[in-house]
Amino acid sequence: MTDFRPLTKFTYFRGRVALYAILKALGVGRGDRVGMQAYTCIAVPEAVLAAGARPVFIDIESEGLNMDASACTAAMSSGIKAIIVQHTFGLPADVRAIQAVAGRHGIPVIEDCCHSLETQIAGRNVGSFGIAGFYSFEWGKPLVAGVGGSAVTTDVELEAKLARDYAGYISPPHTLDFRIRAQYLAYRLFFRPSFYWGTRRILGNFSNTGLVDSNYHKTYGEGESVEFKYRMIESAKSRLERALAEIPAGTAHSNKIVADYRRGIGNPLIGHIPVPPWASPVYARYPLRSPDKCRLLGAAEKCRVEIAGWYATPVHPLLQSEWKGVGYVAGSCPNAERACSEVVSLPTHRRVTQADADKAVDFLNTFHL
Ligand SMILES: *Cc1c(COP(=O)(O)O)cnc(C)c1O
Repeated sequence: MTDFRPLTKFTYFRGRVALYAILKALGVGRGDRVGMQAYTCIAVPEAVLAAGARPVFIDIESEGLNMDASACTAAMSSGIKAIIVQHTFGLPADVRAIQAVAGRHGIPVIEDCCHSLETQIAGRNVGSFGIAGFYSFEWGKPLVAGVGGSAVTTDVELEAKLARDYAGYISPPHTLDFRIRAQYLAYRLFFRPSFYWGTRRILGNFSNTGLVDSNYHKTYGEGESVEFKYRMIESAKSRLERALAEIPAGTAHSNKIVADYRRGIGNPLIGHIPVPPWASPVYARYPLRSPDKCRLLGAAEKCRVEIAGWYATPVHPLLQSEWKGVGYVAGSCPNAERACSEVVSLPTHRRVTQADADKAVDFLNTFHL
């Protein structure tokens, strides 16, 4: 049984702030370059840019959704200062292979565990392979506490630096706490597969009005967002402390629902993502490939089946015209771009009932072009 208490030690406003704190503690700053996979969300490059450094995008495996260890070798020799390894959807990346390469170049590996709490590699939890790991607790993550993130490390020196810097992080203003509480309440009420398509439409409208915080900013860079100075909101941190006890039940539920998806879904138009023999994924969402993602999502909306289309772009949700701002070059990571056009995902969270899972399986098995 895993001890999750370290998750409550260094807590920040969001997962990206935890990553920023790790980068700072590692001495990554202006002029440095940081490796990360394409097929990620804006939170990751945003943290790197906030630290004054620049992202270097590395392609994913041709059949998987995680960083390709062989593609990262080239990036290593191009002088990156750190590398972020993401365990996408809870499917573990080959962090040991990447670390072997990084180790030869003296480059620290940071694990992005925002989708993975109890995912394991050879019997050991992800987040414990790199020098540090970070987590996020907002909607859609395996553990929801409202908004927040945390940083973990087993490195004594890095831990001391994180502790020293942590004193400089301040509590967010009460107005922000109030907004997050209201959003958490809405999540409690509406976060379930049967409401998925309806709330998507409503939330889209809310974020346009500013009532719900959109999780990406229009500008990135050093000093662009005050959020990088904040600790986790107090009410969210209390929820996180209480929610730790729920993690094993969440894992068991995800495993049960995923077993149904794996066993039940068999359609030549829908592909499962291969799982390496050393990997024990606990899925935050269950990914599938389809040659016609758009049509699949359209049909799912009509049938009211929760299927998500993210990541829709290599740096979600940035449109191609915005890629330049984070340094992503179109065509540079073809596997990631193909995943954006093919991969959809099913929910695995606690609100997914057996009936929801059965409905999703039936829908996918009868889907045709
Ligand atoms: C959610 C997420 C983050 C961090 O998100 P925050 O909104 O900053 O908490 C980072 N990486 C990945 C892959 C994520 O899904």
